[in-house]
Amino acid sequence: MSDYKSILEKIRLAFPTPTTDKVHEAYFIHTILRALDQVDELKSSAPVLGYRDGGESGCQPWEQIPEHFSNVEWSIHQVIDYLSGMTVWGHPNAQTNVVPPTTIPSIVGNLIGAIYNPNMVGIEYSSKVGLAEQEVSRICANLIGYSPTESVGLFTFGGTGTNFYGTKIGLEKACPGTLQTGIRERAVVIASETAHYCKLSISAWLGIGMDNVIIIPTNENNSMDIAIFEQKLREAIESGAKVAAIVATMGTTDSFGIDPLPEIVEIRDRCVSDYQLAYTPHVHADSVIGWIWSVFNDYDFAKNSLNFSVRTLRRLSDSARRIKQLHLADSIGIDFHKTGFTPYTSSLFLLKKRPDLELINRSEESIPYIKQDAQYCPGIYTLEASRGGAAPLAALANLLLFGKEGYQVLLGHLVEMAEQLRESLQVFPNITCVNTYNHGSVTLFRVYPEGVDAESAFRNEMCNPAYADELEKHNELNRRVQEYLYKEALEGRGATLSLTENYRSSDYGKPIVAIKSYIMSPFCTLDTVEAIPAKIQEALGVTMKALQASGDSVRTGG
Ligand SMILES: *Cc1c(COP(=O)(O)O)cnc(C)c1O
Repeated sequence: MSDYKSILEKIRLAFPTPTTDKVHEAYFIHTILRALDQVDELKSSAPVLGYRDGGESGCQPWEQIPEHFSNVEWSIHQVIDYLSGMTVWGHPNAQTNVVPPTTIPSIVGNLIGAIYNPNMVGIEYSSKVGLAEQEVSRICANLIGYSPTESVGLFTFGGTGTNFYGTKIGLEKACPGTLQTGIRERAVVIASETAHYCKLSISAWLGIGMDNVIIIPTNENNSMDIAIFEQKLREAIESGAKVAAIVATMGTTDSFGIDPLPEIVEIRDRCVSDYQLAYTPHVHADSVIGWIWSVFNDYDFAKNSLNFSVRTLRRLSDSARRIKQLHLADSIGIDFHKTGFTPYTSSLFLLKKRPDLELINRSEESIPYIKQDAQYCPGIYTLEASRGGAAPLAALANLLLFGKEGYQVLLGHLVEMAEQLRESLQVFPNITCVNTYNHGSVTLFRVYPEGVDAESAFRNEMCNPAYADELEKHNELNRRVQEYLYKEALEGRGATLSLTENYRSSDYGKPIVAIKSYIMSPFCTLDTVEAIPAKIQEALGVTMKALQASGDSVRTGG
């Protein structure tokens, strides 16, 4: 039998002390350091964390809550095992996706958010952390060209959440009263084929329905086909449907395609007047990836004071020119946990006109136990009740750390590395880059058997239904090449390139597979990227041999 009071004493030691106690504070900090030390021991030269004691079976498969209170050290030791096998995003060879390494200040922002645990549902629970949310909103409004006083921002659950808010507000504009009555008429969402799949989940969850997402095909630069957009928009309006949201993707996830936002807005406006619409369809810019290019809005590309190479300069200015139009959208999304280099999850929804937010207000009486400040009353309009304060603290830490110039330098470097990679891939006639006209740090390419001219083979597969079989065979070849590359990378040999199953569809509707390099690490160098093509040729050799041995033929196309 143990007296509860003796256990309570131990439980108290598991919390940071509420009042100054140097000894216990030292213990707390020491505990954090020890945990970090244990994780660091899993690091090697490979882009993934290894396993403790060399074994792979570190983790217990926990199923039951333990019977008794354990202790701080033991429980931390247990959870550290779960990091085994994690990709180290800052590793130059970690090129899986748009996942950033996180900076030290943003980590600290997150950590103090975790310790003091602000909840941005209201001022009582967040004190000045709510100000951080507002200040980040104003900084970003100024950055992208919204009025910092007319706009309003809030942090939410990921890039998906930012699209969710945009669509919800748009739905309320198109079909007033749905907040109360539910949707009673057909509402549609319009987005491009290469827009993020969250367009579907959001429409499903909002009750709009996935069947009411109108998907616009994309051009070879992976941006929305504007003529088809206009046609589909008019058809929708003429059919009597309400347009809840038009989503312009400003930097697609896979290929960094950028939709023509000015034309989209112009066509929207023309339709409002042509059809005498009683509402203006909401244009939401899904710029969760592309927003950061706005640090170049006032960069003097002619002067080029940061001394970027000519071709990098061209790529940066091409993207920047399009991103400069962001302010035309009625709302936008920003993911700090992508191109802002903070920990997950840190996403900001920015609304151009603050009064639009009132469309989704709940009544103050409906949240009786949460005090709302006149200046700060997120509890009235956010979908979420609890919203942790770590996200804006991390975001603010990074904005203040990098400044415009810091982000310009980092982006410039990543784009330069991607350019180097493309250049070294282009040397090989059997490799073709499939997002040539997109100028971010993501490179999509396809590999073909030796002797095949990749470019013409790809063009045929893209346009000509007679090549559907070829397309599928080469899709499979690329899957296997990527599999080999990935396995090798985990062993510390080469980069962790990933696979996208359908970066876009062929003209006749078949999915096109591509191998993806997403460079996000400031530690990436010329050596890193120049080693990649040789590794690909090695993978191709091994794969072709295996395919031949299994009697599975990958015909040479073209
Ligand atoms: C990643 C991404 C999303 C979804 O964001 P989450 O933070 O993963 O919810 C939406 N749109 C685009 C263009 C994205 O790249």
